This record gives sequence, C-alpha cells and structure tokens, in this order.
Amino acid sequence: MSVDRVVLATHNAHKVAEFQAIVAAVRPDLTVVAYDGPEPVEDGTTFAQNALIKARAAAAHTGLPALADDSGLTVAVLGAAPGVFSAYWAGHQKDDVANRRLLLDQLSDLAPEHRAAFFTSVIALVTPSGEEHAVEGIWPGRLATSESGENGFGYDPVFLPDNSDGTPGTRSAAELSPAEKNAQSHRSRAFVALQPLLAAL
Ligand code: IMP
Repeated sequence: MSVDRVVLATHNAHKVAEFQAIVAAVRPDLTVVAYDGPEPVEDGTTFAQNALIKARAAAAHTGLPALADDSGLTVAVLGAAPGVFSAYWAGHQKDDVANRRLLLDQLSDLAPEHRAAFFTSVIALVTPSGEEHAVEGIWPGRLATSESGENGFGYDPVFLPDNSDGTPGTRSAAELSPAEKNAQSHRSRAFVALQPLLAAL
C-alpha cells in the first residue's frame, strides 16, 4: 500500500531540508514531517545500529514509515574512532573546533600515507509493520595536518577527500563548494542508495 507521509527522526532543520529535497526527487507525493516525540538512547556501536534505533522509535511513536541517519568520521590508524563518537570526540559538549583540534593532535606525527580516513553516512528506513532497511554511503580521503576552508561543518576543514580516481586530494571538504561536496559526499551516496527504497514505499 502506498503511503503519503514519512517521518524524519532529527531536530536538525538543515537535515530536514536535505531529506525533503531527496524525497521530492523520487516521490513528489510524499510529505516529510519532522519527528518531535521522545528521543531514544543512541547506544549502538555502529552507525547502522544508531540510525535504526532512531528510526524504530519514530516509527513506533508516529505509526508512519520513519527515516533516520547517523554519520561520522573513521580514522584508520585509530581503529574505528572517532566513529559513532564523532560529535563528542573531545568531550560531552558537541564542540566541532575542539574535536578537530584533538584529532589533529592525535595524528600530529603521522606521515600522509598513515592518515587515511573516511566519512560514513547510514540512513535507516523502518516501517510501522517492522520492515527495516539501512543504506550506507562512504567518502574516502585523508586527515589533513592543519585546517583549511570555510565551508561545511564538523570535520570538513581537516578532511581531504580523495579525487574521483582514488588518488589523494589536496583540497579540504571545507574548501569545496556546497554543490561540489553534495556531488560526492557520504550523505549524497547514501541518498542514492535510499532512492529505490523510497520509490517502493
Ligand atoms: P550526526 O550524524 O549528525 O550526529 O553527525 C555526527 C558527527 O559526525 C557530526 O557532529 C560531525 O562532527 C561529523 N560529521 C558527519 N557528517 C559530516 C560531514 O559531512 N562533514 C563534517 N563532519 C561530519
């Protein structure tokens, strides 16, 4: 049965706008509503687990199909870190500047070939009947040795995305225009993977 509304589990207005645009491109008949119910504890150890936790809560509370995303940066030499702790890497306050500074300090003596990192975005879709999906987008690159660029947010000034042929890039994600970032980012790649699921909803 076709549905006409989907709920998005986020309070971030920027994300609501991003999701509205992607949904409109695939299913113009579908309205995205922001979730304002109780927030679950995000105690998963993976991006997929946390995205599913948020989407399940929104689906259960609203009775609508629910979307939720979870994202972050993984630095190879640090294992899975910062990973699901990306937003709070430097402490309990969400502080992008402190997070970037700590990460640069942690990798301060490492040569470029040991600075591999990637962004991940997982988008979960959960229906009230219990159908669950999680799609993933990855954006590979390296950690810079200092900050550059004014665009974007979070770790963008210290992340050097690889070129499309896989060679190391020289411009940080914060030096890319929003259109350039949207054409290659982890989030846009997860959106592409989400499209067939939205079409089938
Ligand atoms: P969340 O999925 O919105 O909770 O994001 C988790 C954290 O990952 C953010 O606070 C950022 O630090 C980081 N992050 C996720 N996506 C990006 C991105 O596109 N650029 C820079 N940082 C990001």
